[in-house]
Amino acid sequence: MGRKLLLEHINVPGINTLEVYRQKGGYAAVEKALKTLTPDEVVEEVKKSGLRGRGGAGFPTGMKWSFLAKPEGVPRYLVCNADESEPGTFKDRYLMTYIPHLLIEGMIAASYALGANTSYIYVRGEMMPQIRILERAIAEAKNAGLLGKNIFGTGYNLELYVQPGGGAYICGEETALLESLEGKRGNPRIKPPFPAIAGLYGCPTVVNNVESIAAVVPIINEGGDEYAKIGIGRSTGTKLISASGNLKKPGVYEIELGVPVEEFIYSDEYCGGIANGKRLKAVVAGGSSVPILPANLILKTINNEARLMSYESLSDGGFATGSMMGSGGFIAFDEDQCIVRNTWNFSRFYHHESCGQCSPCREGTGWMEKVLHRLEYGHGKMSDMDLLVDVSKKIEGNTICPLGDAAAWPVASAIRHFRDEFEWHVTNAAEATSRNYGLANY
Ligand code: NAD
Ligand code: SF4
Repeated sequence: MGRKLLLEHINVPGINTLEVYRQKGGYAAVEKALKTLTPDEVVEEVKKSGLRGRGGAGFPTGMKWSFLAKPEGVPRYLVCNADESEPGTFKDRYLMTYIPHLLIEGMIAASYALGANTSYIYVRGEMMPQIRILERAIAEAKNAGLLGKNIFGTGYNLELYVQPGGGAYICGEETALLESLEGKRGNPRIKPPFPAIAGLYGCPTVVNNVESIAAVVPIINEGGDEYAKIGIGRSTGTKLISASGNLKKPGVYEIELGVPVEEFIYSDEYCGGIANGKRLKAVVAGGSSVPILPANLILKTINNEARLMSYESLSDGGFATGSMMGSGGFIAFDEDQCIVRNTWNFSRFYHHESCGQCSPCREGTGWMEKVLHRLEYGHGKMSDMDLLVDVSKKIEGNTICPLGDAAAWPVASAIRHFRDEFEWHVTNAAEATSRNYGLANY
């Protein structure tokens, strides 16, 4: 049984209230940090833990914190990115719904470490229940003297606000989020400068995902070194995985990083195998922004080593760079799923959500959606697959923000691994047109 650092008490009745959360040891990390550690020492613990950003990019959290500029007399901000919108990703929503004080405790400890006295939780606008839950929890914490002035009598002050999001996927991109928080249209900014130098209102800002901030609590409680003992290599600690698609037991799981993918899919501790006795066809291991991997590749051993649930082990043979663990949105497709239909569905999403600032993304996502639509509905041509790969290459690396890459990778990887299925849609157009099934639930 893997260790649970975030979800250990998730099933305790009333854990969403301050009273029960404190009975289970809640706010001990804040007390320890504020009373016994300097801000720099908290940063040091997070660095030692090896924690990497849980939103998708996997950037080392402690390093991001140490990049924060500290000009004299200029406020610094911590902004929690709770704009969770990646298809197949619902772990932050789960955490905020059932154990909101864990996030608030993490926000206080992280704000203290960064020297922020005003912090924000930017929550996806559609998540009204979670916004209310957080507001209630913040009010409880404030009444108990855990927020506001002179927390734990240490002289440290923090005001924490919840900001409903703008209702667009792109507002989850950190600089678009900051624009939206400033009351403007959520268009991504060109980086550099990174938010650590010029973020909210032009001031130094750290933007961290909900799960990253929650993980600061066990890191302070147990110490960075202890946290780093969990996991494998540079993938330390535990990670929340949102499991969906054709699995027997979809849901949110906390895993120790390094669990074999096969164990995660088939063991009863996690997903319990593929639903309805079907075979696994493919997996999208990190939300829709990563390549789709066929079953034979994800279950295959590489150099006698099994594929692991880690930042390093889920790559697509050097085809795409970055963390292929992404947001931890693990979508399984069974043998009945239509790869063309699912790829078109992803493409439709990215086209709809493109903010339109860069031509390759604005135009390219539209072209990809149209070509995939005609393939799915029996009007495709054999040359369409090369056309799609060509368009995806022209988008990749040529845009302001990662949405362009995210739109390109699923299309290019689907054609790379399932070209025969795309060709079948051309040679069996009538049958392809009459089918309207094969779209996974995620
Ligand atoms: P990124 O790699 O550009 O940046 C990662 C983080 O590191 C950012 O906070 C950035 O400011 C910081 N950083 C990087 N280099 C830095 C430097 N030199 N100095 C200071 N700070 C630096 O990626 P990103 O745009 O933050 O995230 C992309 C990922 O988001 C995708 O891989 C995707 O998986 C994920 N995503 C998640 C969701 C979700 O709902 N969870 C939605 C969309 C995308
Ligand atoms: Fe907007 Fe797409 Fe450019 Fe990102 S890549 S800034 S979403 S047009």
